[in-house]
Amino acid sequence: MILPKSTRLTSDQLAEITAIVAEFGCKIQPIVGAMRSIYAIVGDERDDLMINRLEGLDYVDRIDRIQSPFKLMDKRSDLASHRIKIGGVTLGEELFIIAGACTIDPKNPNYFYETAAAVKEAGANALRGGVWKPRTNPYTFQGDVKSLDILMEASRRTGLPVDTEVMEEAHIKLALDAGVTTLQVGARNALNYSLLRAIGKAIGEKDTAVLLKRSIHMGPLNEFISAAEYIAAFGNPNVILCPRGTTPTLDGFRNHPDESITPLLKEKTWAPVVVDPSHSVGKASYVPAAALAAVAYGADGLCIEAHVEPAKGIGDDPKQALTPDVLKKTIAQAKQLWAIRRG
Ligand code: PEP
Ligand code: MN
Repeated sequence: MILPKSTRLTSDQLAEITAIVAEFGCKIQPIVGAMRSIYAIVGDERDDLMINRLEGLDYVDRIDRIQSPFKLMDKRSDLASHRIKIGGVTLGEELFIIAGACTIDPKNPNYFYETAAAVKEAGANALRGGVWKPRTNPYTFQGDVKSLDILMEASRRTGLPVDTEVMEEAHIKLALDAGVTTLQVGARNALNYSLLRAIGKAIGEKDTAVLLKRSIHMGPLNEFISAAEYIAAFGNPNVILCPRGTTPTLDGFRNHPDESITPLLKEKTWAPVVVDPSHSVGKASYVPAAALAAVAYGADGLCIEAHVEPAKGIGDDPKQALTPDVLKKTIAQAKQLWAIRRG
C-alpha cells in the first residue's frame, strides 16, 4: 500500500508508480478514502527492489506492507480512519438503523409505502426492501424487478436512502441506475467471489455502500473480513459487516444468534458492524432483545425487518417483521443503550 505525502497523486505520479509496479507483475488500485487516497499494490508486493524504488520517490511518504489477508480492511490499515456515510449519518458517530420489509409485494405496493412511512416515523436512517429474494424453496415468490420502482418511490416519499439485495450481476446495474445507495449481499452469496468482484468493480468510483451479510458457511472471522476485502480491493472501501445468525444449534431460533462476534471483528477490522437481529432469531417476539444485545456487544447499527401489517407481508415478514410500534420502541431503546455504551 503506497501512502503519498499529498492527499492524492497527480496523474503523472500515478502513471509513474503504475509503470514501476508493472515491472514486477503488479498493478495499482487507487482507494479513494474520505480524507485521502491511498494506492494498493495488487499482486505480490514482497519484492524489496520494487519497494525500494517506490520509497525513493519524493512524493511517497511510506509503503505500508501489512501482513494480512485483508490489508485494506485490516484495523492496522491506513484506511482505518475512513468513515462510511449513508444518508447524512456517519457510521460510528451515531447508531445507524436500517428497517423495512423483507420482501416488497409488487401487487400491493401500499403496504411498502405505509411501512416506509412508519420506518421513518420510528426514527430509522435508511429503508430496506427486498426486490430480488433468495428463497430456499424454488416454487415460492422469488422477487420481481417491478418492486425496484416501488422501493425508489418509497425512498422519494420518505427521503430515506435505500438498501436492497443483489443476487446476480445484472441486478447490480439495475439497482445502481435506479439510485439504490446500499447494495446488500445476502448470506447465501457472501461467499460468491465473482459476485463480490462484480460489485467491487461496479461501485469502485461511487459513494455506494455494501451491507455484507455473514454466510452461515463462513468459519473463521477472517473469511468474513476477506469477503469484504474482495469488494474494497476494487477501490471502494464502503463495506459494512452484517452478522445475521449462523448455523442453528438451538431448538427454537431460526439461526444461532452471532451478535457476540462484534467485539472480535472489531479487533481485526475497522469496518463498521451493523447487526441483523431479524434473521438471527427469526421470530418477531425475540427481535427486540436480540437488537439490544447487539448494541450492547458494540454494534454500530441494526438492520431490522418491519412491516406495517406483518400478517399481510410476504417472504419472512409474517414471521419476523416488527410492527411499527414495536420498531419505534426498539429503536428508541437501542439508541439509549448506544448512548450508555458510549458513556
Ligand atoms: C434478507 O435480508 O431478507 C435476507 C434474505 O437475508 P439473509 O441473506 O441474511 O438470509
Ligand atoms: Mn428476510
